[in-house]
Amino acid sequence: MALTEFQLIDRFFANVGDSSSVLLGVGDDAAALDLPPEHVLLVSTDTLSETVHFPANTRGFDVAYRAVGTAASDLAAMGAAPLGMLLSVSLPRADTDWLADFSAGLREVSALMQLPLVGGDTTQGALSITVTVLGSAPKAGYLTRRGARPGDRLCVSGTLGDAAAGLSISSGETLGDGSAATFLVERFLRPSARLELGQRLRDLATAAIDISDGLLADAAHLASCSGVAIEIDAGALPLSEAIQRVADPAQQLDWALSGGDDYELLFTLPPDSALPIECTQIGRVLEGHGVSCDVRPQRAGYEHFV
Ligand code: ADP
Ligand code: MG
Repeated sequence: MALTEFQLIDRFFANVGDSSSVLLGVGDDAAALDLPPEHVLLVSTDTLSETVHFPANTRGFDVAYRAVGTAASDLAAMGAAPLGMLLSVSLPRADTDWLADFSAGLREVSALMQLPLVGGDTTQGALSITVTVLGSAPKAGYLTRRGARPGDRLCVSGTLGDAAAGLSISSGETLGDGSAATFLVERFLRPSARLELGQRLRDLATAAIDISDGLLADAAHLASCSGVAIEIDAGALPLSEAIQRVADPAQQLDWALSGGDDYELLFTLPPDSALPIECTQIGRVLEGHGVSCDVRPQRAGYEHFV
C-alpha cells in the first residue's frame, strides 16, 4: 500500500539523531534549538541533483551520506560546532526500498557528524536533495575566507585528488585495483567533513575554506576574499598511496589541483604557528592577487553554467 506523506516522514525522517540542543525537532511547524550564550548561528545549504551531482542509480545510502557530508563541510570551514540539519527531498515516487537505504545512510552520517535531523520538507518531483546545516561558534571566534595575510603559511588537511580519482574509477574511465579503488570511490561517496579540525582552527587559522570545486579554484576564492595572492608548490601536495597506484604523476597532479569534491580544509596560518596533525603546508600567502602554481593543470575547477 502506498505511504502517505506523513507516514513517509514518520518512517524515514523522524528520530534521526538526537542532541540536548534540540528542544523541538521533526513534527511541529518549526524546530527549536538552544544556542550557547555569546554564540552565533552559522547556516549553510547545499542541493544535490541526480545526474548533476551524483550518477543516476546511486544507492540511496550513498546519496544521503554525500548530501550531508558536503553540507557539513561548510560548517567545518567556518569552525562551527554542529547543531542540527534540515532536509528537503524531492522524490519521483515513494520507493520504500530506496527510502529505507537513504534513511539508513542518513542515520549513519547524522550520528557520525552529530547533526540531528530537526525538520525538512517532502515533495514529489525529480530526485533532488537539499540539506541545510546549522552550527554554532563563539561570536568573535568563527573562521572566514577573509583573514589571510601576506607571510601566512598555506595549509591543507588530508590528501588531495582522491574524490576525482574515485569518480573517474566509478565511471569506468580509470582502472583501479581492489583496495585502492575502494578507498578512492569511498572518498567521493563519503565526504569527510573536517568538523573537529575546523573547530581547532578557530584559534589558529587566519582564514579557511573547504575544497569543493578543486584546490586552484577554492584557493582563488580565498585569495580574492582576503585581498592577497597565493602561491602553491605542486611538489608539496599531499597524495594518498591509493591515488599513486591508479594513475601517472601528471594525472595525479591534475586531480589534486583541479579535481573537486575533496572536502578537505584549505587554511592559512600565521608564519610562526605549528601545523596541526594530518595537515601539510602547500604554499604561502603573498601581497598581490590571484593564485600561482609552479605547474599548470590541464583543466580548471568545476563550474556550473559554462
Ligand atoms: P508544514 O506543512 O507545517 O510546513 P510539513 O507537513 O511540511 O509541515 O512537515 C511536517 C513536519 O515534518 C515538520 O516538522 C517538518 O519539518 C517535518 N518534515 C517534513 N519533511 C521532512 C524531511 N524530509 N525530513 C525531516 N523532516 C521533515
Ligand atoms: Mg506549518
